[in-house]
Amino acid sequence: MANKRSKPGRELCPVCGRALLPAEGVGALADGSLLCSHCVRKLRVMYPLREDFVKGHIQRSDALNQATLETVREQIGTVSAYIDGLRAQNGGSNALFLVETVEAERGGLLKPPCYSVRGRVLYGSFDPMDRAVLLHGGTETEIELEIDLDTQEWKSGRTWVLRFSGKGLEVAPGDRIVRR
Ligand SMILES: [Zn+2]
Repeated sequence: MANKRSKPGRELCPVCGRALLPAEGVGALADGSLLCSHCVRKLRVMYPLREDFVKGHIQRSDALNQATLETVREQIGTVSAYIDGLRAQNGGSNALFLVETVEAERGGLLKPPCYSVRGRVLYGSFDPMDRAVLLHGGTETEIELEIDLDTQEWKSGRTWVLRFSGKGLEVAPGDRIVRR
């Protein structure tokens, strides 16, 4: 979470010039300048929020807090090209999820094993019941993401847990899940 180093008040976003709303200021940069939510949302593909489990607690970290204003001013104009590059690297997929950790629940006689994978949506978004494709060591398997009652949509720029099941599936950190 960003430190409240200054009150947004009627300040303007130093990147796009929009007036900051009182509730904004999540994107505090290294020098303490605050960005508007519009710019933060745009930059998230380059600066995903990280959530790590540290001693049983979720610890959030935001790499944007270490970036300089000069850098993000340059980067904001290159976001769409950056996403196009990622898309091209991933076979033109409309959404990309990067697997960071995997938990597997063993299945039963009639129940296939279930996987909960934690990771980040780098771009695009996934809906529950979306047909997605798991890319693991050169293999592609179609999977169906389970409904999560708390989540309507897994959006880009942050950590999520996706659940799916399937017999004989192999999932490992570093695997990708894409929507085409
Ligand atoms: Zn802005």
